[in-house]
Amino acid sequence: MKFHRILLLICLPALPLSADPVEPNAKKPLKALLITGGCCHDYEFQSKALTLASAAKADIDWTVVNEGGKGSKGQIKLYDDPNWAKPYDVVVHNECFANTKDLSYIQKIVNGHKDGTPAVVIHCAMHTYRALETDDWRKFLGVTSKHHEHQSNYPVKTQKKDHPIMKGVPANWITPKDELYIIEKVWPNTTVLATSKSEKTKKSQPVIWTNDYNGTRVFGTTYGHTNETFSDVTFLDLVTRGILWSAGRLE
Ligand SMILES: [Zn+2]
Repeated sequence: MKFHRILLLICLPALPLSADPVEPNAKKPLKALLITGGCCHDYEFQSKALTLASAAKADIDWTVVNEGGKGSKGQIKLYDDPNWAKPYDVVVHNECFANTKDLSYIQKIVNGHKDGTPAVVIHCAMHTYRALETDDWRKFLGVTSKHHEHQSNYPVKTQKKDHPIMKGVPANWITPKDELYIIEKVWPNTTVLATSKSEKTKKSQPVIWTNDYNGTRVFGTTYGHTNETFSDVTFLDLVTRGILWSAGRLE
C-alpha cells in the first residue's frame, strides 16, 4: 500500500501538464476584414460604427482597409495579393467604385471568395464595379442592381422569419432615411430574407438576402447609405448577425 501511495504522489502533479488547457468549445476571435472607400458615403463614420457595434456583441478582431479615395473610380492594393482573403474568417465589402471596370482586378477580388472566404456585402457594394459588363461581381453578390430610388424611411418586410439572421429584426422595422436599390435580377443561389416596397412603383425589392457562391456564404443588404442607418441598432445588429452567420458562427 505504501508503494502505491508513493506512486500516486509522483504521478498526480504531472496530470495538469498533459491535460489540454483549452476548453474544447472555446472559439478564437473571428478575424474580420472590412474593405471600404470610394464615392458618396461617410466611410470613416460607417467603419467606426460597424466595428464598434459588432465587437460589442461578438468576439471579433477587426482589420479595416479604407483606400481608393472618394471618387467613383479607384483600386485597392490589397487585392493584388492572390492570397489576400486567406487570413480572414469573413470579409465585409462596403466599397463604392462604380466606374472601376477592370475585369482582371475584379476577378482577383471574387477569387478570394471562390477560394472559400465568406463575405458580407453592404449598400454600394451592389453598385461598385457597376460599369463592368460581365456578371463576375454580380454573381458573387447574388443580385444585380444598377440604380436606386430616392431616400425615404422604408418599411422592411421579413420574408424568412426563421432564418437566424432575421431573428431580432422587429416585424415593424422602418429604416432611417436610406436609398432603395432596384434589383433587376436575383441570381439562382440567392435566398431573399426581406423586401421593401418602392414608393414609386409599389414593387417589392429584395433588401436583405443570402447567396451561396460556389459553396461560400455571402450575406447582403442594400441599406447603408446614411450615417443614421449606421447609427440604427436594428441595422447594426442585423449586419453583425450577417457577419457571424456567413462565417459559420450563427446557426
Ligand atoms: Zn448610397
